[in-house]
Amino acid sequence: MANNPPFVTNYRGRFAPSPTGPLHFGTLVAAVGSYLEAKSHDGEWLVRIENLDTPREISGASSEILRTLESLEMEWDHDVVYQSERNSVYQTTLAILDEYGVIYPCTCTRREIADSSITGVSGPVYPGTCRSNLLNKKQIGALRIITDNSLVKFKDALRGQISQRLESETGDFVLRRADGIYAYQLAVVVDDAEQGITHVVRGADLLDSTPRQIYLQKLLGYPTIKYMHLPVVVNNQGKKLSKQNLATPLDISNPVAQLIATVSFLGQEPPTELLKNSISSFWEWAVKNWCPEKIP
Ligand code: GLU
Ligand code: ZN
Repeated sequence: MANNPPFVTNYRGRFAPSPTGPLHFGTLVAAVGSYLEAKSHDGEWLVRIENLDTPREISGASSEILRTLESLEMEWDHDVVYQSERNSVYQTTLAILDEYGVIYPCTCTRREIADSSITGVSGPVYPGTCRSNLLNKKQIGALRIITDNSLVKFKDALRGQISQRLESETGDFVLRRADGIYAYQLAVVVDDAEQGITHVVRGADLLDSTPRQIYLQKLLGYPTIKYMHLPVVVNNQGKKLSKQNLATPLDISNPVAQLIATVSFLGQEPPTELLKNSISSFWEWAVKNWCPEKIP
């Protein structure tokens, strides 16, 4: 061991918006937080468009999101990856999990699941009703992965130690929906690994999904990623801003003001003089003074 060359750490982060509408303040927080973490580590920052849920995709939203990033002078590294072009990779991964004997078709209806479940961290805990389908591959329906009750643990950079027991807190979760669409949990794990992502910075609404992602990473032999979950922007009814509750699109007629509002939300204290300066001088200040310890 002692003769090994020193381990060189690289930082590769990413921003992974879903094109269900134009960028709003909530998603900009994730974009800016992940960008500043990456840049302050001298790392790379990649962009991936998570457009698997085609029924919810708004046409033109992807290019609008990318244009907004460009107008904020947030340059990404490498080519943008579109999940819609990667079905064969997800399919191959499902075939591997099938070899391991850990996925099964679930033919339960929403109603049946609701009736037979308790509510967990993100909706009903699937009680494993269809596990006996394991050998009956001809069944059609959603594909679920078998979970167990070992403790999945990770240390979030802002929130400290987080742990979950998947079987009792989420139940066996869906990797491919009954309509054939690959689930976010599967795609995000496959893509983060394949893109060599080392650090994920995103909204705390995804904190509860992280143990499922770590569980999949372990099963697939992928490296475990480091996570930082940022505070979520809420509207005045205390609801997370989302395209669904019609968060107003960003006003980027004054990009520096918008960026200042974003880093201020993240607890940073930009001097007001920055308002008079260019976007690039904003970024210069922001990267140099980025202090995650100040995030509320
Ligand atoms: N596409 C997800 C969203 O927009 C984010 C996924 C992630 O950062 O892991 O909510
Ligand atoms: Zn079922």
